[in-house]
Amino acid sequence: MVENTEKPLNFIEEIINDHLKSGRFGQRVHTRFPPEPNGYLHIGHAKSIVLNFNLAKKYGGLCNLRFDDTNPSKEEEEYVHSIRDDIHWLGFDWEDREYYASDYFEQLYEWAVKLIKDGHAYVCDLSPEETRAYRGTLSEPGKNSPFRDRSVEENLNLFERMKQGEFPDGSRVLKAKIDMSHPNFNMRDPVMYRILHAHHHRTGTDWCIYPMYDFTHGQSDSIEKITQSICTLEFENHRPLYDWFCEKLDIHHPQQIEFARLNLTYMVMSKRKFLVLVNEGHVSGWDDPRMPTISGLRRRGYTPESIRNFCEYIGVAKNNSVVDVTILENHVREHLNATADRVMAVLNPIKVVIENFPEGKVEDLTAINNPEDESAGTRILPFTREIYIDSNDFMEEPVKKYFRLAPGREVRLRYGYIIKCEDVIKDAQGEVVELRCSYDPDTLGKQPTDRKVKGVIHWVSAQHALGGEVRLYDRLFSVEHPDKVEDGQDFRANLNPDSLEVIEHAKLEPSLEKVSTGDRFQFERVGYFSVDPDSTENKPVFNRIASLRDTWARITRNS
Ligand code: ATP
Ligand code: MG
Repeated sequence: MVENTEKPLNFIEEIINDHLKSGRFGQRVHTRFPPEPNGYLHIGHAKSIVLNFNLAKKYGGLCNLRFDDTNPSKEEEEYVHSIRDDIHWLGFDWEDREYYASDYFEQLYEWAVKLIKDGHAYVCDLSPEETRAYRGTLSEPGKNSPFRDRSVEENLNLFERMKQGEFPDGSRVLKAKIDMSHPNFNMRDPVMYRILHAHHHRTGTDWCIYPMYDFTHGQSDSIEKITQSICTLEFENHRPLYDWFCEKLDIHHPQQIEFARLNLTYMVMSKRKFLVLVNEGHVSGWDDPRMPTISGLRRRGYTPESIRNFCEYIGVAKNNSVVDVTILENHVREHLNATADRVMAVLNPIKVVIENFPEGKVEDLTAINNPEDESAGTRILPFTREIYIDSNDFMEEPVKKYFRLAPGREVRLRYGYIIKCEDVIKDAQGEVVELRCSYDPDTLGKQPTDRKVKGVIHWVSAQHALGGEVRLYDRLFSVEHPDKVEDGQDFRANLNPDSLEVIEHAKLEPSLEKVSTGDRFQFERVGYFSVDPDSTENKPVFNRIASLRDTWARITRNS
């Protein structure tokens, strides 16, 4: 039993404690994460992964990975690989317990035969439309199928011939014989097996009948001796059927427990919708950094720690709700604030010539890598007569409370001197193209006593600057609930047209010369960035992971 003094137990831990007390599963805790390999994992799956693996760890138990691969036409090897990679990247390991529902097809078939022999299942020849009509409605009971009372022998014979491939797709199914007037639809003689002459990614053409989810999931749990089978709320209505099969088969009977799915504001959360976004080119792929897939978040620069912390922070509940995406963003900010080295990068460069600084001279200035982590040390920033600053840090006619550079005004260069804007150079169109400044050699590392200089701006030496591409990602959808749409529209109507801005020619400090894919930095005053795999030796590409603060909160407040 786990006594947790820091945090109250969640409702799942309370159920597990009850099981341990009653000894229902001895003292074992054995969970599983059961993805269907029909797409890439998303942050919602991360919630389930963190929950299942953490529970196993907390109780000294085990967690399996099981591919729920009962749908032959949809599954693909590519997804199996990506799912494995994503779970490992999140920091979890299933050791040698990687299972496939398809490995149990033979056992499931034998169990189906047993249910037929015991009078609990029958072959039904109703068409899918007829089956629907026979099921009744919420207010009306269903009707018994005319094939419900077939003899055991006839059922065994037909089921065997279904397996042998004698019948076309959709012509017959195997149904559980339960109760056509049951208040729960799932109990009105649910389909157990359907005929599908299709290729399966693991069993090839061995089978042309495939078990339905409800006759696979609980049985797979049972075979693996799972104790708590944790799933999302939409399966709550399936629990009576889960229990019915285990009871009728008289096999190890895990406890199904349902919790609320994770949904995020400004996001959709379904593989089916992601597939639309990918196939229609709204994003560059499953790992587009705007996607809430694990691979997208990874490419964006999210850390596994921040995702785990987020999942633990939101916890588990019994009611569906939508989590504010800011909470996720704040978790990555928090982690990167503690761990990411600071560097200087100028995204919208404008040249500054410091007229009283000698030509050709390079002065080494010392910069702190991470003020939150002394062990990160310091680095050298070369300072020269020509530098770049961000054009947003200059205003020709400064507004009130503007403390940065303006004609005749002073500002401090981060880790450097105070400079003063002496002159503004414009091109033929009147655009500011260069600033002429002076610097005060007495102001390195100290404040002047005769005046106050409030603003501090970032900069890079023009001579030493590296060129780089910077991809400023924003939310993929521009409204909080993208699924809320007018009639005739869908979530695509809410795509944010400005979710990506590409800056081709940013100026980066020279320490960024040797970066590798996945390295993360704080660009001082700008945000957190990571190195994208599109980087080449001559041109690094950086993805914005998050701005320093929640800029959307400000936008909404002002509008
Ligand atoms: P989607 O609706 O996105 O296609 P799914 O539920 O079909 O997802 P599965 O591969 O069947 O995806 O899910 C694997 C496991 O992850 C299941 O236990 C499922 O309940 C859980 N899961 C899926 N989506 C979420 C979510 N948004 N929040 C929490 N758990 C989830
Ligand atoms: Mg599914």
